[in-house]
Amino acid sequence: MKVLVVNCGSSSVKYTLFKMDNEKKIAWGIVECIGLPEAYYKRQSVGAEEKEESVKVRNHTEAVELIIKDLMNKETGSIQSIDEIAVVGHRIVHGGDKFSKSVLVTEEVKEGLKECFSIAPLHNPHHYAGILAVEKMLPGIPSVLVFDTAFHQTIADYAYMYALPYEYYEKAGIRKYGFHGTSHNYVSHRAALMLGKPAEELKMITCHLGNGSSIAAIENGKVVDTSMGFTPLQGVVMGTRCGDIDPAIIPYLINRDKNFADPEALNVLLNKKSGLLGISGLSGDMRTIVKAVSAGNKKAKLAFEMLCYSVKKYISAYFGILNGIDCIVFTAGIGENSPSVREKVCANLQALGIEMDISKNNEPSSEERFVSKDESKVKIMVIPTNEELMIARESKMVLANG
Ligand code: AMP
Repeated sequence: MKVLVVNCGSSSVKYTLFKMDNEKKIAWGIVECIGLPEAYYKRQSVGAEEKEESVKVRNHTEAVELIIKDLMNKETGSIQSIDEIAVVGHRIVHGGDKFSKSVLVTEEVKEGLKECFSIAPLHNPHHYAGILAVEKMLPGIPSVLVFDTAFHQTIADYAYMYALPYEYYEKAGIRKYGFHGTSHNYVSHRAALMLGKPAEELKMITCHLGNGSSIAAIENGKVVDTSMGFTPLQGVVMGTRCGDIDPAIIPYLINRDKNFADPEALNVLLNKKSGLLGISGLSGDMRTIVKAVSAGNKKAKLAFEMLCYSVKKYISAYFGILNGIDCIVFTAGIGENSPSVREKVCANLQALGIEMDISKNNEPSSEERFVSKDESKVKIMVIPTNEELMIARESKMVLANG
């Protein structure tokens, strides 16, 4: 059985084709810079060299069409006939209040997704275009939607509500939704396996630290709280996003600078020019920041410390919310690859029973592993995320359950 996972981002389409008997990747790739002259298509399949070429793709529909034609190429493709694909799993950023779990695509589901356009204008319309393109290119093959927000739907109202007048929730759907749910879900299950206990008997804090970052408090397999909110802007300091700020800064900026009368200018400031990039003035990429810190750059050091402090603050708060935890999990680009961030985040938390083994933490590895001292009450783990595989598994399961 083969499952195709499609991820239509704001300017890219990523895909992975899985063989589900062994959960191995057969082919994978990305069309980047959609709509721009520098658009390119990079792909690889098992046993073949990576290929990259410039392409002309005006929109997400054309990108999906290009990918599927390439997958079905008679000489170089990985599938001979569309019937080899049992189901297509689509990563969907925002399911709003409407979708609390993965669903098979029907006309009604597509209408429901359209209703979520207004709360995720940068993502959901592209996902929708991707779904239509797959339907056109792979007629009769079922599609499943897997939502980034779904895993967080167990959060209680007192945790997901903002203390604004209630009508803003009722009429505009303004509440915390949370994101990266597929990643938090995946690593929490891996962590349970590593600890040899069912997820339903564990309390954990999962830290997805990448370009975008979020922390989740998970009790007995259910999310109790998460750091991202109505949008992925809330929470910890990120690559180019500011994370938590005093909301009164927004009207203050609007009054002070007429450029900010345009909401898009504010969006760009908060989402694209802030975070590590905004503070360091160098880059939103943690590798560049770490190098600059070593070279003695003060603003890079400040940006690094701010990010680590904000993660530590969430961990400490969620430790209290959960009344103790069994483990902390680090995942995604920074969480998996930056020992210095993990060390700084976990430093001086002995009072909470969190004790890192610095030499284990510094050992280079791409495997899932423990980096806490043997005697640490709270286990600290590094677990590479695999959102694509999680989407493939969910799609297979939804298909099996009809
Ligand atoms: P992601 O969004 O999960 O792809 O993560 C991207 C982030 O991970 C970027 O900030 C990268 O700089 C960071 N990253 C990747 N590898 C490393 C590394 N070896 N050390 C520090 N940060 C890394």
